[in-house]
Amino acid sequence: MTASPGGRRRIVVVGGGIAGLAAAFTLARARHQGAPVEATLVEAAPRLGGVIQSEQVEGCVVEAGPDSFLAEKPEAAATAREMGLGDLLIGSNDRERRTYILHRGKLQPLPDGLMLLVPTRILPVVTTPLIPLPSKLAMAGDWFHRPRPDGPEDESVADFVTRHFGRGMLENIADPLLAGVYGGDSGRLSVRSVLARFWKMEREQGSLTRATLKAMRQRRANSTGNPPPLFMTLKGGLSQLVAKLVAQLDDTAVRLGRRVEAVERSEANYRVRLDDGTTLDADAVILALPAHSASRILDGLGPALAARLAEIPYSSAMTVSLGFEAGQVAGLPPGFGFLVPAKERRRLLACTFVHRKFPENVAEGRGLLRCFMGGSRDTEVLSLSDAEALETAQRELREILGLTAQPLFARIHRWPDSMAQYVVGHVERLRTIDAELEKLPGIYLAGNAYSGIGISDCIRTGRAGAERALAGVRG
Ligand SMILES: Cc1cc2nc3c(=O)[nH]c(=O)nc-3n(C[C@H](O)[C@H](O)[C@H](O)COP(=O)(O)OP(=O)(O)OC[C@H]3O[C@@H](n4cnc5c(N)ncnc54)[C@H](O)[C@@H]3O)c2cc1C
Repeated sequence: MTASPGGRRRIVVVGGGIAGLAAAFTLARARHQGAPVEATLVEAAPRLGGVIQSEQVEGCVVEAGPDSFLAEKPEAAATAREMGLGDLLIGSNDRERRTYILHRGKLQPLPDGLMLLVPTRILPVVTTPLIPLPSKLAMAGDWFHRPRPDGPEDESVADFVTRHFGRGMLENIADPLLAGVYGGDSGRLSVRSVLARFWKMEREQGSLTRATLKAMRQRRANSTGNPPPLFMTLKGGLSQLVAKLVAQLDDTAVRLGRRVEAVERSEANYRVRLDDGTTLDADAVILALPAHSASRILDGLGPALAARLAEIPYSSAMTVSLGFEAGQVAGLPPGFGFLVPAKERRRLLACTFVHRKFPENVAEGRGLLRCFMGGSRDTEVLSLSDAEALETAQRELREILGLTAQPLFARIHRWPDSMAQYVVGHVERLRTIDAELEKLPGIYLAGNAYSGIGISDCIRTGRAGAERALAGVRG
């Protein structure tokens, strides 16, 4: 592998979201430890952090993009601790954990004992109006499913859930849960990629209910002490993680507000072409970008790879955060918020009661609601003006919650083509992408398009990309 005249390996990271920052941090740390590396980070926007953006408004933390990460995936919390932010890590207030589903215009609590979509307790499932009788019968029938080692290599979440638990379960519970996480359509999302654990359970054990109960028993037997919280975040906002990572990049050249247009072959290995006409020579390039951006950049260098990347669809999202006097939201039902199935024909996909989920991030005397709109269900939402978006969110909150108070403040954020959709065939597509990458040594991919869209997944892929780019130096 070539290196710069000074013998340093030149590595360019493209994209300054959490994946690119995790990659750049890994390179900076290696350099401090003596690795002969010269790193450059290029980011198209005038700020770093990508979709992570926190703002303090009247003592409340308004998260424009993600508001937390799943505690069971360790990378985000571990990186926060490594950055000296361990004292600011807070867990969701799980004593108040209760999520509602809008059903025929009324909020119904998700039944207790539902592990994502698998029932583990009989009574709450039998009594909830969310699950119609045919689905209840299908749930009982799931107990008798036999292992399917030769089952489909992949299928849609909708087909899989309907096969096990009936259509009512799909429409009233699985669909809104997935829309709240992926902004996705269960008729297109891949069960193998999105619900990998359940896909495996079916092949090995047949019944999802029996397999889930067995896994729960094992977890209980191995656990010591209280269960960890489901979600974690940082007191004061997730942007602090971005700021700390950026502070570690002292040796890294950061090109802010510069879009990478192409990566080309050159004598020095690769040439990264920026939108101001300048170029950067690189021995390795880490593309920590949405797949559609990576596809455009690689079009000339690896057309087959670019075509596969372009096949990964994305959905768009809008968040509308509304701050209230605490008294104005005191009458909301207890819990973290609600999800909205498609058949309710609303623009809201979900609404989080932030002051309940993370009370440390909302000033005393205040309430904060965060509405989530868009997804593949509503591609037009980003074209709403601020006034229209605000009016829509307020009208639907009034109709669903009876909330008539005027907010003290509102913040609206749009995230076009930001949430990767792992559609049926995703695993196979990743295999082809890996095979095409073999032909381009020194090109690495990171970010939310491949093996998980959460913050921890993006940190993992960013760090792994950097480690692989460094491998040439470390031998
Ligand atoms: C509204 C919303 C809510 C979410 N909620 C959660 C949550 O609660 N928990 C969770 O774990 N995850 C959540 N996610 C998902 C998670 O936040 C993202 O998947 C993750 O942050 C993406 O990080 P990234 O670095 O891969 O991409 P991004 O943050 O999208 O960063 C990519 C960067 O690349 C830059 N870029 C693009 N093209 C170019 C180019 N040609 N040249 C240079 N730079 C370029 C962009 O400007 C951007 O800054 C949410 C996502 C959204 C949008």
